[in-house]
Amino acid sequence: MKKALVLYSGGLDSRLVVRLLQDQNFEITALYFALPFGCTGCNLLENLNQKEKIKLEILNVNKEPLLSEYLQILKSPKHGTGAGINPCKDCKIFMFKKAHEYAKKHDIQLIATGEVIGQRPMSQIPSAIKTIDEELGFEILRPLCAKKLRETAVEKSGLVDRSKLLEITGRGRKKQMELAKKYEIEYPSPGGGCLLCEKSPALRLKHLLEKNLITEKTLSLTMIGRHFYINNTWFIVARDAKESQIISTFKNHIPDDYGKPSVYLSKKSGEKEATKLQEAYSTGDNQEKRNKFKKYKL
Ligand code: SF4
Repeated sequence: MKKALVLYSGGLDSRLVVRLLQDQNFEITALYFALPFGCTGCNLLENLNQKEKIKLEILNVNKEPLLSEYLQILKSPKHGTGAGINPCKDCKIFMFKKAHEYAKKHDIQLIATGEVIGQRPMSQIPSAIKTIDEELGFEILRPLCAKKLRETAVEKSGLVDRSKLLEITGRGRKKQMELAKKYEIEYPSPGGGCLLCEKSPALRLKHLLEKNLITEKTLSLTMIGRHFYINNTWFIVARDAKESQIISTFKNHIPDDYGKPSVYLSKKSGEKEATKLQEAYSTGDNQEKRNKFKKYKL
């Protein structure tokens, strides 16, 4: 049986790719990347349609050793970033290379993605696709827009019938939605997006990366609370009971206490500041105290 590895996000485009390749008698393995700051809106398992009959593999980039490798890319992306600190081209190259390793190990002849030319400004315009492909040194099939791209080896060899691939371009979703109807695919609305593209969390993450404060252990903290950096110490003030609960699982923290939020501190020596922060963000009118910490906010 012919085998294909599809980079799978759970969204409509990658699900269409699964169907297109199944129509060409491929056995599909869907490779999902759980990225540290990537899309949070797709509940993969919930979206996994039984009808699709695919094998699902998850590469967890929130854990070592993949996490360090990924953080290194964020620190010094070779191909630049978008509006935030999103290194889309490098991020894609990272995922494609991991997919390639997986495909080689499992004798899979073809790697495919749901990318569409012109759909995303940073990684899916022709020049970006060219840069990515040149750096990879192996080919990726993009079935949704393949007819707009150069013929790949798997098409030339007849493994894939190019005439049955598509020529979708641009940001519109009309064609994909028509196909979803045809294949009876129920698909989720687009997810929560990538935090790296958003200016405010991106600045905070940039600072934390520079100070080497993001680790497998502290990763969950980067997404919660109010953040401060004072005298080489990272502080996070909980905004609600749920965040207080998360912070309380860390060794270095000041527990919450009747209207006072819990506070994480990266160094024990910061306890005095942590107590002041807790006071400033406790219930009541503490604006003056809060203002003193403004300049330290991440
Ligand atoms: S938006 Fe860019 S950086 Fe974020 S997950 Fe997608 S490719 Fe990676």
